[in-house]
Amino acid sequence: MKIVKGFRDILPYGSTNSDSSYTWTSITNQLRDVMSSYNFQEIITPVAEYDSTFKTGIGEDTDIVSKEMYEFTLDKDNKETSKNQILKYCLRPEGTAPVVRSLIENSLDKIRSVNKLYYLGPMFRYERSQKGRYRMFHQIGAELIGSNEILYEVEILSLAEKLIKTLEIKNFTFQINSIGNKESLDNIRSAILAFGKKNKNSIDEKDYKILEKNPLRFLDKAIHKYAFKDIPKTIDYIDKESMNRFKLLTKLLDDIKFNYKINNQLVRGIDYYNDLVFEATSSDLGAQDALLAGGRYDTLIQKFGGKSNESIGFAAGIERLILAMNRKNKYESSIDFFIIYKEEETIEESLKLALKLRNLGIKVEIDLERRSFTKQIKLADKSRSKKTIIISKNNLDKALVVVKDMNSGEEDSVNIENNLEFLINQLKV
Ligand code: AMP
Repeated sequence: MKIVKGFRDILPYGSTNSDSSYTWTSITNQLRDVMSSYNFQEIITPVAEYDSTFKTGIGEDTDIVSKEMYEFTLDKDNKETSKNQILKYCLRPEGTAPVVRSLIENSLDKIRSVNKLYYLGPMFRYERSQKGRYRMFHQIGAELIGSNEILYEVEILSLAEKLIKTLEIKNFTFQINSIGNKESLDNIRSAILAFGKKNKNSIDEKDYKILEKNPLRFLDKAIHKYAFKDIPKTIDYIDKESMNRFKLLTKLLDDIKFNYKINNQLVRGIDYYNDLVFEATSSDLGAQDALLAGGRYDTLIQKFGGKSNESIGFAAGIERLILAMNRKNKYESSIDFFIIYKEEETIEESLKLALKLRNLGIKVEIDLERRSFTKQIKLADKSRSKKTIIISKNNLDKALVVVKDMNSGEEDSVNIENNLEFLINQLKV
């Protein structure tokens, strides 16, 4: 049996193409803690949605929807139909559209006027897999739904930066831009289309098709392959209000010493954005260098049938964040005590002690294979235990065990009937 192409196992001991599950969990816990510190609350939506969620939300002309969605039907009993059409399911390619679907379906916007939500989970895109780009990958994303207050933009950007900094990623850059309101965006699209038409002879056929279908996608993904000068800048097309808003944002970001670069050619390949768009990249990542991306999406909620609700959000790729951490064996699992018995006849008593300590929340391992004393010591070494508890028949008769520090070699005799606290306190040293 083989794993699906572009999908990955995350193994307990790590492997050539992934860190250990322990590293994964430590990192995702840290990311969750950052979300909590900004009082974003987790929303857990299913991995599959009806296709309309993404077709309406992201737009049919985007790469994600037109080429990359895992779609399937399950119509075995003919019940999965709507208006005589077989319903299609999709494995979710991104998190924003499902969050908005859920918010409206569950009237979260009526419970709170501003919802600060985050999600963490697998996403699926049928892309060409390569280092840092997988067909199943994970995103952690934040969505702030219900306000166009500019200070929330500062908060969201600072949250995004905090996620990166928490993992001690060093070489990263934030790029920000404004793409204005709907009319501005139409003007930007026309300007890029006109620019592309003017340069038709220099653009290959495939890219030209992209240009004609979705000029923003051409600007986002293709234009920089060519050595064009004078590529249209969004700043020349955005409305006055958006311009003032963007100026104010940069001032607010300067005030909190947030580092960013303005990139007037930054746009997003997804339909729902307006005004602020941003991206953080890492110079340590090679071709797939985007750590996270996001922006404001004030019209998406209405598209889904909700009342007008201004929103802003971003998504970070967890695999990318881990790659950018650029450290081997990022976190390693260890245990507190390895219990070693000298004589096999004490194995049951040893197990009892292990269970007692585990009940106290202490991480304990014991070899139940009845291996020799020396083999158990080797196992204890391998398990990276901080201390061993050595049990011998002689000592046990007096309710004593020996606790040995694996680093210093120091030993203590401990009475396990009345002094378990001593063991626990030892862990704090
Ligand atoms: P997007 O939803 O395309 O804006 O992507 C947001 C972030 O998710 C990117 O900045 C990447 O960090 C990550 N990402 C997107 N696509 C993939 C993929 N195929 N494999 C791994 N990470 C991805």
